[in-house]
Amino acid sequence: MIKKFQKNKNTWDNVTTHIYKKNPDIFKDVTRQVLFDGAFDLPIQFRYFQVEKGGYSSLEHHEHTHFVVIYKGAGHVLLGNGVYEVSEGDCITIDSWQWHQFRADKGSILGFFCIVNVERDRPSYPSKDELDNLRSNKDVAKFLDDKLK
Ligand code: MN
Repeated sequence: MIKKFQKNKNTWDNVTTHIYKKNPDIFKDVTRQVLFDGAFDLPIQFRYFQVEKGGYSSLEHHEHTHFVVIYKGAGHVLLGNGVYEVSEGDCITIDSWQWHQFRADKGSILGFFCIVNVERDRPSYPSKDELDNLRSNKDVAKFLDDKLK
């Protein structure tokens, strides 16, 4: 089976474009499309996320892991205690309980594929103490402050 990519609509055949999450306060301008969902006996979901220019995904962590491949554009990712520039083709592994957040802050969109287990725990978001702890790294603090500009 082939799901053709529809360039003019930036989506694939029979794939719905969803708003990323239900809680609008923790992210900005992100959509989610599920391309493969537990097909055959592979217990994985393969998703495409697109962060519009200036947008960001939620800052979160969870027990499950992610494999991410940047497909379009560029931006930054907060990963654990660091902030890294990412662009097309970069592959990122996100460990269990590693804090992560993607930002399209390079004047471009940031589109990426993300693979997860179908069965997975819910993300959790930082408490005030956890945020303070993350902010003790000055690159992370700057990354978190930049979204307020
Ligand atoms: Mn995640």
